[in-house]
Amino acid sequence: MIRVIAEGLVKRYGPLAAVDHASLELPPGELTCLLGPPGAGKSTLARLLAGLESLDDGEIYFGERMVHGIAPGDRGVGMVFQDHALWPALAVRDNVGYPLKLQGIASRERRRRVEEILTTLRIDSLADSRPDALSPAQSLRVALARAIVTQPDVLILDEPLAGVEPRHRDEAWDEIRRLRAELGLTTLFLTSNVAEALAHSERLAVMDLGRILQSGEPQELYNQP
Ligand code: ADP
Ligand code: ADP
Repeated sequence: MIRVIAEGLVKRYGPLAAVDHASLELPPGELTCLLGPPGAGKSTLARLLAGLESLDDGEIYFGERMVHGIAPGDRGVGMVFQDHALWPALAVRDNVGYPLKLQGIASRERRRRVEEILTTLRIDSLADSRPDALSPAQSLRVALARAIVTQPDVLILDEPLAGVEPRHRDEAWDEIRRLRAELGLTTLFLTSNVAEALAHSERLAVMDLGRILQSGEPQELYNQP
């Protein structure tokens, strides 16, 4: 399990600093919620960690390793996006296997690992389905499978439950917690929902205007009756 440390991260879009000297630490194997209103800079921060955006300033460490210059595919990060971003033309098994293909893993080994991860997420029966035939809760499982099939150290979830039916959300949370624990994933969960963050985080970081305002245990940050 690895610790993630982000120090003084800056990302500018023209005159706007979407991320403005943000510092954040993700303890190894724990689930940290990054809470903030829409536009706070959460997605941009997540994309910086994943290497999907270039940094204007600051440093990111995964364990002892400074990740500057390391390509997204080599960082050991799995990501789940808000709309899950499955490739519409590909069946579930090909969506999940695609990151392995990018890594040049031979088709036989790829098939084995895809079968294994579909079983782990209890979606084997959906292997041949197209994304548009899936419910939002099923689509999330497929997105999770695709994010972890490469056996990453870090899992980043960007408001993944936004489209999931309320009655399936607790189940989705159970699944995320189970995977995190079984695989020892250092996990960052982005949300603008205070209740969700308080209910499910082990660590909480509060973000607004590109900055991390405070971080710690949820109980320390919010005095609940
Ligand atoms: P959040 O995830 O908290 O909703 P974002 O990181 O998506 O916040 O956005 C933070 C700010 O950066 C917003 O003002 C947004 O409009 C701006 N922004 C994000 N991505 C881009 C981009 N590619 N180009 C210009 N502005 C952007
Ligand atoms: P094959 O060698 O089996 O044809 P490809 O590597 O060509 O596999 O890709 C399989 C499918 O994935 C193709 O339909 C391709 O258009 C699609 N695809 C590849 N890269 C992307 C991507 N970044 N986003 C969406 N679809 C993609």
